Amino acid sequence: MSVTGKDFGIIGGGIGGMATAIAIAQLGGRVTVFEQAPKLAEVGAGIQISANGLAVLTELGVDPEHAGPASRPQAIELRDYKAGRFVARIRQNQNPDYPYLQLHRADLMAALVARAEKLGVTIQLNAKAEIVDAFVERPEIRVGKTTQFFDAIIAADGVNSQTRQDWFEAGSAKFTGQVAWRATIPADNPDAKTTVYMGRRKHLVTYPLRGGKMINIVAVQERKLAAPQDWQTTDTPENLRAAFAEFGGEAQDILSQVKNVRVWGLYGHPPLQTWWRAHVALLGDAAHPMFPFMAQGACMALEDASVLARALDEAWSFKHGLARYEAIRKIRATSVQSIASSNGRIFHQSNPILRIIVQTALKGMSKVAPKSLEGRFDWIYKYNPITQTPFKIGIIKQFLVHVVIQIAVQLALFVFLNIERHPYGDVIRWLFFGTTLAICLTIYQHIRARR
Ligand SMILES: Cc1cc2nc3c(=O)[nH]c(=O)nc-3n(C[C@H](O)[C@H](O)[C@H](O)COP(=O)(O)OP(=O)(O)OC[C@H]3O[C@@H](n4cnc5c(N)ncnc54)[C@H](O)[C@@H]3O)c2cc1C
Repeated sequence: MSVTGKDFGIIGGGIGGMATAIAIAQLGGRVTVFEQAPKLAEVGAGIQISANGLAVLTELGVDPEHAGPASRPQAIELRDYKAGRFVARIRQNQNPDYPYLQLHRADLMAALVARAEKLGVTIQLNAKAEIVDAFVERPEIRVGKTTQFFDAIIAADGVNSQTRQDWFEAGSAKFTGQVAWRATIPADNPDAKTTVYMGRRKHLVTYPLRGGKMINIVAVQERKLAAPQDWQTTDTPENLRAAFAEFGGEAQDILSQVKNVRVWGLYGHPPLQTWWRAHVALLGDAAHPMFPFMAQGACMALEDASVLARALDEAWSFKHGLARYEAIRKIRATSVQSIASSNGRIFHQSNPILRIIVQTALKGMSKVAPKSLEGRFDWIYKYNPITQTPFKIGIIKQFLVHVVIQIAVQLALFVFLNIERHPYGDVIRWLFFGTTLAICLTIYQHIRARR
């Protein structure tokens, strides 16, 4: 099956939805994106795109710097909260082909929209969409009083996905006792660094945007008072400053400049049994909501987009393609989810003795074995969803490999059962071993290509 000429409806015009639209349109699919907001714009905040995400953007022909320059951090500095005492430095950005980028979200979104429009993707704004029935082979999207049929629907409707709630037996989300504030402040410092200030039950991350013309702030606090899981919720800068009042040094200086801030409650979501039903699939945060402590939610949505489009393009049917998409993506996305939640705990050490131990260990490792700190997450950053998926072997080749294996196994069995009675028994025995070896090699190649 090829996606060429097929109709795809995508619910949600965030990073995941737009990337999927581009990936499918690039392969020849006809795509309509439904976005409930009046315009395609991201909140005024930063986003970090690591090599695995950038590999996808590059493959999709998206220039992340189309609308504004990115920063390329050389390292992350870890500091203690009190006076900003230096703890450790972890080098970043080691991949010359796909450097680690820090972008303004609005710039990334503008780049995605420009590419999607160039490929002829239809974008409907002010279009709050719902699926009429997810269990049919030609599902329908309803927006207000109008409906439209599609060959397949991809729901990239975010962490509060209505599609997940309506059709995927999602359990209810639980507040984790953590909230995150986001803000930006103007700056003029092209050398500004990425810094994590680690405090008691809270941490603050700052990094430069647009070549140091802005500083992005993400501040996470553990607290009992919940906040909605929604970036539209504003808070007062005073609340943010009060929560981080014990932070000293540069952190306090940065917080004192905040004028506008949004707050977001972090919620845990029970994992889903499946990410697809008939011709409908979930993608990005809708499939696997992620804590921000690894800065990987958008990167995972980009990976999903690339894998989903190719899985559909190379499958026998939509169901086969969606099943392959889930099989390839689920383990990886779930592993990153669990790393992201444990990372928060390292930053938030409240016990003073444990904090000293953790900080001393980080300091020691960054000096004695810096590569062990830097390489801890290689499996995330060095993964390339384009070259490391089974699509290197096309569906026809996969079929042929299976046929060859089947014939070889049958032949081997036949020979094995008749070998004793045959006048050329020895020759056949060698042929048998040769064939077995060839089968093993073929299977090994096959498995290697699927990884
Ligand atoms: C504090 C914080 C910092 C982060 N930093 C990073 C980072 O540095 N790097 C990184 O990779 N990730 C980061 N993330 C995660 C990242 O922002 C998300 O994982 C990513 O944006 C998810 O993209 P998405 O397209 O799946 O969903 P969203 O971006 O949420 O998009 C969903 C879209 O669907 C629309 N929609 C919803 N319902 C409907 C409907 N019924 N009809 C039509 N439209 C609908 C919404 O309006 C929205 O536009 C961070 C997250 C947080 C909370």
